[in-house]
Amino acid sequence: MFNSLSERLEGAFKNLKGEAKISDLNIANTVKDIRRALIDADVNYKIAKEFTDKVKDKALGEKVLNAISPGQLMVKIVRDELTELMGGTEANFNSSGNPAVILIAGLQGSGKTTFSGKLANYLKTKKGKAPLLVAADIYRPAAIDQLTVLANQIGVEVYAERDNKDAVAIAQNAINEAKTKNKNVVIIDTAGRLAIDETMMTEVANIKNAVNPTEILFVVDSMTGQDAVNTAKAFNDRLNFSGVVLTKLDGDTRGGAALSIKYTVQKPIKFVSSGEKMETLDVFYPDRMAQRILG
Ligand code: GDP
Repeated sequence: MFNSLSERLEGAFKNLKGEAKISDLNIANTVKDIRRALIDADVNYKIAKEFTDKVKDKALGEKVLNAISPGQLMVKIVRDELTELMGGTEANFNSSGNPAVILIAGLQGSGKTTFSGKLANYLKTKKGKAPLLVAADIYRPAAIDQLTVLANQIGVEVYAERDNKDAVAIAQNAINEAKTKNKNVVIIDTAGRLAIDETMMTEVANIKNAVNPTEILFVVDSMTGQDAVNTAKAFNDRLNFSGVVLTKLDGDTRGGAALSIKYTVQKPIKFVSSGEKMETLDVFYPDRMAQRILG
């Protein structure tokens, strides 16, 4: 994950290794390398520039201290700023309610259904919850089957209505079903399209208005870089979602989505998903991710 970015940043710091003191010149050179590395990782230019301007200011401000080596100082500053860029501290995920309603939205193929299963498994095994998974994709009957296969793996029930073409009604019926069956978290897997379109956005917004979700999670494929960020913007404009889920971090992703999304939509990344197994879901910790990027 983020291999290329990690290598490039390491290279930027390496150039400082031989330096005894941090200076305006070596700060400027290192910052330039860091900016290029971020842009090549598909971080938007404006974000990369603002990021490196902050790093530069901090380095200039601390250069007089000279307590640690220039290389160590820069690594520390960059680690702190990466953590900040990705949200600073771990975001809260609210699964309380009777039932809590978690709405899952995103483009088709982003990993929504897989994530829905993983989240149900996480809430069941780590939080002692009784989840109900809801298949609210009325366009692809196969989506119900896919969710059922995952649900069977983790021992969670699925609510679906194969002949109902009203996604809002399905979601509402599912919540009633959860109440009668004592399920305390309802996870609604909605339909996705290959691109953002009005019908899909209206449908998911209607579900939101009808069920008053506890959390709305926007699921996005981290391999899609700047597109991920643009899609996030479009979904946030319509849904005002509460958090982001980055999927496919097990692939050869460059890092742009992880680094840019929080800045762009001002919503935290709450979970990261890496793999197709139901157990591969992690709560997102900005500091740990920054540490992983820096190796
Ligand atoms: P949806 O259309 O948004 O519901 O997406 P799916 O959950 O069906 O996922 C689309 C494809 O990506 C499927 O083949 C999944 O197995 C795969 N997938 C989902 N999440 C991950 C992940 O974190 N890592 C990898 N490698 N593949 C994933």
